[in-house]
Amino acid sequence: MTTETLDIKITKNTQPRLAQTDFSKLVFGHTFTDHMLVADYADGEWKNFQIIPYGEIGLSPAISALHYGQAFFEGMKAYRQQDGQVSIFRPDKNAARFNKSAQRLCMPELPVELFTQSIAALVDVERDWIPTAENHSLYIRPFMFATDPYLGVVPSSTYKFMVLTCPVGPYFTKPLRVKFETHFTRAAEGGFGYAKAAGNYAGAMLPNRRAMEEGFDQLIWTDAKEHLYAEEMGAANVMFLIDGKLITPSTRDTILDGVTRDTVIALTKDWGVPVEERRVSIAEIVDAAKSGKLTDAFGAGTAATIAPVGSINYNGEEYTLSDPATREYSNKVFNTLNDIRYGRTADTHGWNYMV
Ligand SMILES: *Cc1c(COP(=O)(O)O)cnc(C)c1O
Repeated sequence: MTTETLDIKITKNTQPRLAQTDFSKLVFGHTFTDHMLVADYADGEWKNFQIIPYGEIGLSPAISALHYGQAFFEGMKAYRQQDGQVSIFRPDKNAARFNKSAQRLCMPELPVELFTQSIAALVDVERDWIPTAENHSLYIRPFMFATDPYLGVVPSSTYKFMVLTCPVGPYFTKPLRVKFETHFTRAAEGGFGYAKAAGNYAGAMLPNRRAMEEGFDQLIWTDAKEHLYAEEMGAANVMFLIDGKLITPSTRDTILDGVTRDTVIALTKDWGVPVEERRVSIAEIVDAAKSGKLTDAFGAGTAATIAPVGSINYNGEEYTLSDPATREYSNKVFNTLNDIRYGRTADTHGWNYMV
């Protein structure tokens, strides 16, 4: 399908759950809206774009997504602006990354306008599900998976593209105690760490569980080769303010090119604060923490938003940072992002896609 405007068949849910949903008790990813989007890829093209009631779908138990992990996802958010309008934050960036993931996993791309239009159509149907409270939004989860009903480690010839939406509140509610992970590896050069491939997250579960058993909230992944350089923080990008400069690992095979990361960098440049995208060694961070030059550290991601680091542990040595409530930089980033998303300040970069 290559047409400019997408034909989407909408079947309304006759048993909506919106009225019974308590928006003050949202657990991230547990509450789904009344509808979802589904499309099929077969015979070399995308077709059957439909918005249908949220619910179970029938699938063969042999689909290769289940056996060989030909599956990936995206994550973005829609916001209820101050004047009641609805916006999606930078969906074009997610569309581009969606296709990067697809390429790496031998899966079909989805033209950017089909991706954006189908998501906008679903968000439009679910308008009333978008929370109005501060720090709340509608989380959007597009994903694609292989559906050929055969065993065999070859790319599937059929796929499903789906989109789910969830009203959500804050993901993290307190400063994070994190450690540098120096045993396990999330991604290696030549691998697919830069793709939002399902398998990357399965592989991270054991290291995460271990870190939590040790009393940490999150871990900072380090490079696969030497475990000497910071890469990401859980499923968020990691950023440090050292000596008044924003320093963050440069994107590469092993690092997810985050939309929040890109946004924070753009804002920081607007403010005239120096930005360095490069390799960042653990030694540099530890030294800066010891000398007091590490004045801020946080994770940046759509789900996590701006998640302040309270303390960092390296090989059993704990470095406590300043009280996040008093940090000028990450609070400014957090507040500016919210002001743009909720339409309280001018969107000079054109990041809000109005639905
Ligand atoms: C999704 C994700 C991020 C953050 O990307 P955003 O586009 O900002 O949401 C960072 N790292 C990993 C590993 C991720 O999966």
